[in-house]
Amino acid sequence: MSRYLAVVGERCVACGACMKVCPKNAIAVKHGVRAVVSPEQCIGCGLCVKTCPAGIIKKVERE
Ligand code: SF4
Ligand code: SF4
Repeated sequence: MSRYLAVVGERCVACGACMKVCPKNAIAVKHGVRAVVSPEQCIGCGLCVKTCPAGIIKKVERE
């Protein structure tokens, strides 16, 4: 498992851009409201972080 994990912040506008670029299909936009990352699938590549137009995804170190 990767040392890093993507975490979605509060201001998600559910645009789906992060979901489209994730190579592991680790992101789902729940109920059209916000993006949710599956910790089991995320490899911490950071692509979603760079892609989010709202800049609200952060790469954090796993505990
Ligand atoms: S960091 Fe990479 S693997 Fe994890 S959710 Fe973002 S795009 Fe997907
Ligand atoms: S790219 Fe950003 S704003 Fe768009 S769904 Fe993903 S986290 Fe939300």
